[in-house]
Amino acid sequence: MRQAGRSARIFEAASGVGGTWYWNRYPGARCDVESLEYSYQFDEALQQEWKWSERYSTQPEILEYLNHVCDRFDLRGNIQFDTRVTTARFDEGSSRWQVRTDHGDDVSAQFVVMATGCLSSANTPDIAGLATFAGDVFHTGQWPHEPVDFTGKRVAVVGTGSSGIQAIPVIAEQAAELFVFQRTASYTMPSSNGPLDPDEEAAIKADYAGFRARNRLMPAALGSQWEGNPDSVLAVDDDTRERAFEEGWQKGGFAFLRSYPDLLLSHEANKHAADFARAKIRSLVDDPAVAKLLSPHIVVGCKRPCIDTGYYATFNLPHVHLVDVSTTPIDTITEHGVRVGDDEYEVDAIVFATGFDAMTGSLLRIDIRGRDGAALRDAWEAGPVTYLGLGIAGFPNLFTVSGPGSPSVLTNMVVSIEQHVDWIADCIEYLHTHGRRSIEATPEAQAAWVGHVNGIAAMTLFNDPGCNSWYLGANIPGKTRVFMPLIGFPPYVEKCDDVVAHDYDGFVLS
Ligand code: NAP
Repeated sequence: MRQAGRSARIFEAASGVGGTWYWNRYPGARCDVESLEYSYQFDEALQQEWKWSERYSTQPEILEYLNHVCDRFDLRGNIQFDTRVTTARFDEGSSRWQVRTDHGDDVSAQFVVMATGCLSSANTPDIAGLATFAGDVFHTGQWPHEPVDFTGKRVAVVGTGSSGIQAIPVIAEQAAELFVFQRTASYTMPSSNGPLDPDEEAAIKADYAGFRARNRLMPAALGSQWEGNPDSVLAVDDDTRERAFEEGWQKGGFAFLRSYPDLLLSHEANKHAADFARAKIRSLVDDPAVAKLLSPHIVVGCKRPCIDTGYYATFNLPHVHLVDVSTTPIDTITEHGVRVGDDEYEVDAIVFATGFDAMTGSLLRIDIRGRDGAALRDAWEAGPVTYLGLGIAGFPNLFTVSGPGSPSVLTNMVVSIEQHVDWIADCIEYLHTHGRRSIEATPEAQAAWVGHVNGIAAMTLFNDPGCNSWYLGANIPGKTRVFMPLIGFPPYVEKCDDVVAHDYDGFVLS
């Protein structure tokens, strides 16, 4: 905006930049996307000069990078920290938004860009008695800034998604006793993390633009360096399949799931990957009963896969206990601990690794009113509806960055965010140069788009009835079950570009 000569004000609820990487400071927090990919590409000097230390970066290092970017491009002065936007109302007469904050700001703006994040509304389950607990309570997504020391403590971790799976091995190193409360076993693949290989770094930096361009052609906008097999997993013999799975597993990260193109397209194909992962668990966990409990029953990949460092080995430690809450849920939190059925687990601290009200949570916490005072909360009651995940019918001049209906969380988020930011910046420029005051998605284009997003998801196992993922909003009681992100980055970018090439087809410009 500054480069285009326009003024912009940024409101940020946190006291610093970083978003996810500001809030999620839990022990072991680290990115699942490789460092050389999980970084901005808008500035060649920046991507050449910044040096990452590991293949997968830790939260402190990513936060340091984001602060560096903020200062390098002199952005801090435009950001008002510790300020939460409470309401945004569209005024039809002026075609402007009136934005209010919890600090009493009352700002008029032609455009509002909601960059509120997909995983930024922490979800703490409503368990009876939580307020009576005498010890410390944490949520991985709202971790304190001061150091937390679990040395000698008895700790409960509730939740075994990506956050829990990263935190559990590190907390286990400190805690005297660790109880892990597991409702649904997740699939997790080893990260095979280590120091960044200088040769690999040099090779990528020698042609960073080419590397970025190749990644943009991948379904999740990442991983062009991993070779997948072009054939169906069902078309190869047992030895070939085992070899390919083993290779993917050893490479680490998401490479395992990229072994074959149809793992998320049929149950028969998926079962091969699931059986392989379950056999790995049996080989890594000493106690067969614990291995059985840790073995997931759901489709591999229908929930966001987890990536770990030493997760399964942690359950071989004598002071780490797995508590199954799949059939008997956590009943109450007492003054001294966690009660499940007739058993009470006495602990000094409880860590909720229980996830987020994903994709819509933070947007809907703001009272957003569009045309005729209509509330976004009402418009999205039966699930979010958008055009391209960028615009919403009835809410002119409001943009969402990585909104529902865009590939967002199914991609390398940094790439998706930059693609959206470029699209929005170009759009605002277009409106100015063409003398238009507003842009708004048409209800018809929006309905067709939502149908398209759902239609693609229906061709996959992502909305398998046995899978209660946050992609579907199924982790939040009462939230409408609908698959929110769009699968497939490259065709999406093509569509966005095509919309622009046809004078913002599907939008009304006035
Ligand atoms: P999550 O994937 O939603 O996992 C939440 C966990 O808490 C699940 O195991 C869930 O069980 C459990 N849970 C929720 N309520 C419960 C209750 N009342 N009793 C017992 N268990 C309960 O959340 P997350 O681990 O924070 O991860 C969210 C997303 O953030 C990830 O999928 C990923 O996209 C992102 N993330 C990324 C990284 C990374 O890049 N390294 C790290 C962390 C997070 P159920 O499955 O039965 O609901």
